[in-house]
Amino acid sequence: MGAIDRLDVERRLRDIDAGISTVTDRHVDIVAVTKNKRDDVLETAVAAGVRILGENYAQEVRAKADVIDRIRARGAEVHFIGQLQTNKVRMVAPHVDMVQSVDRQSLVDELAHRAPGMRVLIQVDTSGGQGRGGCAPEDVVSLVNAGRSAGLTVEGLMTVGPAGGDPDALRSAFALVSGLANDLGLQVCSMGMSDDHLIAVEEGSTMVRIGTALLGER
Ligand SMILES: *Cc1c(COP(=O)(O)O)cnc(C)c1O
Repeated sequence: MGAIDRLDVERRLRDIDAGISTVTDRHVDIVAVTKNKRDDVLETAVAAGVRILGENYAQEVRAKADVIDRIRARGAEVHFIGQLQTNKVRMVAPHVDMVQSVDRQSLVDELAHRAPGMRVLIQVDTSGGQGRGGCAPEDVVSLVNAGRSAGLTVEGLMTVGPAGGDPDALRSAFALVSGLANDLGLQVCSMGMSDDHLIAVEEGSTMVRIGTALLGER
């Protein structure tokens, strides 16, 4: 996809915010998902008022390191939201403020080693094993504790809802994750994407991750 207009992104950001306001009074953070987007799109998103960018691929983080570091120096955050191999942690960690996709002990250990104190979310698999990452719901407590013991800053939970778009399935997945976050006293609940973010917010999301609806098709 080519260039994108700052005013378009500003308008879409306002529309998304307005939609969220119709279902909650809480503040909800918006992460602009910039996977497969060129450097100028990241710049445009930040110029339009986006405060957090989300990236999915380690190689892309490395390729975009210059623009990412510039944007972070101006106060915006970059979060890693994709599946992360342990051997890529070293490549990613210097360029991100948070890893939202921590889903196993080996990743906890490698992050604690390479990026002590890193802010993280524990990713929960609510898809029923579609290979999109995440730990089983019954493993959340032990991974949260493992992250804390390793010195990581565990701020909350993240999930990608079940594919297929069935509203009831999405709603119960999001309710499960926000319930877990509440039980554990965790502040951040990152859930909801372009098509399902309002359901996620209704079920307690504090952070939505929006790609297509904000920056256009990939
Ligand atoms: C791609 C992606 C998103 C954004 O998806 P859209 O449907 O384009 O909004 C959000 N979260 C994760 C983990 C993603 O991989």
